[in-house]
Amino acid sequence: MQNLQLFKELLSSPKKIVITTHHKPDADALGSSLGLAGYLKKKGHQVSVITPSDYPDFLAWMKGNEEVINFENGENKDKSAELVSGADMIFCLDFNNLSRINGLGKMVEEAKSIKVLIDHHQEPQHFADFEYWSADAAATCELVFDLIVDLGESYLIDGDLANALYAGIMTDTGQFKHPNTTKNVHLVTAQLIDLGADTAMVGKLIYDNNSLNRLKFTGFALSQRLKVLEKYRTAYIALSAKDLSEYQSRTGDTEGLVNMALSLKGIVFAALITEREDGVKLSLRSKGDFSVSAFAKENFNGGGHANASGASSDDNFEDTVKKFEALLPRYEAALNDNHQKEVLQQT
Ligand code: 5GP
Ligand code: MN
Repeated sequence: MQNLQLFKELLSSPKKIVITTHHKPDADALGSSLGLAGYLKKKGHQVSVITPSDYPDFLAWMKGNEEVINFENGENKDKSAELVSGADMIFCLDFNNLSRINGLGKMVEEAKSIKVLIDHHQEPQHFADFEYWSADAAATCELVFDLIVDLGESYLIDGDLANALYAGIMTDTGQFKHPNTTKNVHLVTAQLIDLGADTAMVGKLIYDNNSLNRLKFTGFALSQRLKVLEKYRTAYIALSAKDLSEYQSRTGDTEGLVNMALSLKGIVFAALITEREDGVKLSLRSKGDFSVSAFAKENFNGGGHANASGASSDDNFEDTVKKFEALLPRYEAALNDNHQKEVLQQT
């Protein structure tokens, strides 16, 4: 971070702080927010964590979860507006553009507070006074850890904070198997274990917490809705609002499905297209050089990382699925070229 000294000075006296993160927070978004919140509270700050929406139950174990304010929930909009406009500092974690926090975005933009961005998504919007950003970081949790180290205060990280930060690193690296799993990821993880992270427990809390509905829904999605387009090395799953409601799908129930499509041998590009209440959402993943952030940006005004991105579609569900399929011929050469490289890398 540029101006680290100034940032340090700002944090040396008690501040009113708001931390926010992206819509439908995942383990990295919530873990980095609650990890940072716990650290800042220990330093004597008054901290509120506001999420733009709800998040999956399998994240609800993190320390500080009970105090999280869900912006979408009833009277919380007014409360959030008050907190945001009255904050000395606003921390924006795990997102690169204010559009990713929905209605909160305008409030944050208009607030007079000092803004801090901590993020690892490509092409960030430069709206913050302080940026701690790196697309080379696997997770925002990794960045929060590195920042606390830069501030010379890793001794303030206890077991609860270490668990929250570990959760984001574990999930954003796909359990330490995506190419973003760098040496630094392992070094940070080792230090988190030293500081009290219980890796087996966090793994169980996140991955062994399925409802029967979710498991059956996964079976349905894979057996009835998975479409493989070998010519384009692509596999996708499209789930309509009816599919989601028939299985009483809850927030987080579709997480991981897109990776199952990508796990198919010979497939280098996978998508999950879901018809949500607030619009049609695309979740995109790739192996190797094929950039899904470029695909998301070029065609759906989305973005993210080279191998994991997302977007919302302006079209209805059926038209989005059609558009997705119709786009593939344009990428045929890139998808097949990428596949050849993948095969060579494996041999
Ligand atoms: P997911 O598919 O898990 O929802 O998201 C994959 C990655 O893309 C995450 O890092 C997420 O923050 C980002 N992402 C998801 N949806 C959007 C979107 O609509 N716009 C942008 N710019 N990024 C997104
Ligand atoms: Mn992340």
